[in-house]
Amino acid sequence: MKQIRDEIFILKESPLYKYRTENKYFPVIGEGSHDAKIMFVGEAPGRNEAKTGKPFCGAAGKVLDQLLEHVGIPRMSVYVTNIVKDRPPENRDPIPREIEVYGPFLDRQIEIIQPRVICALGRYAMGYIMKKFDLDLELEPISRAHGKAYQGKAPYGDIDIVVLYHPCVAVYNPNNIEGLKKDFEILKKY
Ligand code: URA
Repeated sequence: MKQIRDEIFILKESPLYKYRTENKYFPVIGEGSHDAKIMFVGEAPGRNEAKTGKPFCGAAGKVLDQLLEHVGIPRMSVYVTNIVKDRPPENRDPIPREIEVYGPFLDRQIEIIQPRVICALGRYAMGYIMKKFDLDLELEPISRAHGKAYQGKAPYGDIDIVVLYHPCVAVYNPNNIEGLKKDFEILKKY
């Protein structure tokens, strides 16, 4: 993980490198247990995350904390990361080149942690993780896939991919929290 962090720090080929250094932001590598059974993969850091170097520490992070608490999973027992490790300007959606540059680091983090369950938060994480585990054929819009678990094969064993809406949907509309809580209940079985 330290090696990954060091490599991302000097990742000049990233389209986000210049923006990070100009703004004195940090890359956000990930946080949590390296023995986690459950790994959460979000999209990209926001402003709070880039200022601190910690994933999901702003408004969306508060929602994630609330959802984990709802299902009785301590945040320190899971690993939380993103596909894209640097903040895109104005929190815009990641572009394909950014996913291409940072994706291999996420792949290495998955190899290190070897989670039994990967929770993909939002459609970008869903697209990347489903393709990675050869579940492309089962790809559905997130409006249908959310709250479902898909079975995949990792080099180290079976893996479940759980698709969840991104916690930011409850930041934009607090009424969405109930639906998110219901979807998170699928995690109780793990
Ligand atoms: N949104 C994300 O996708 N990741 C973060 O770390 C914070 C907000």
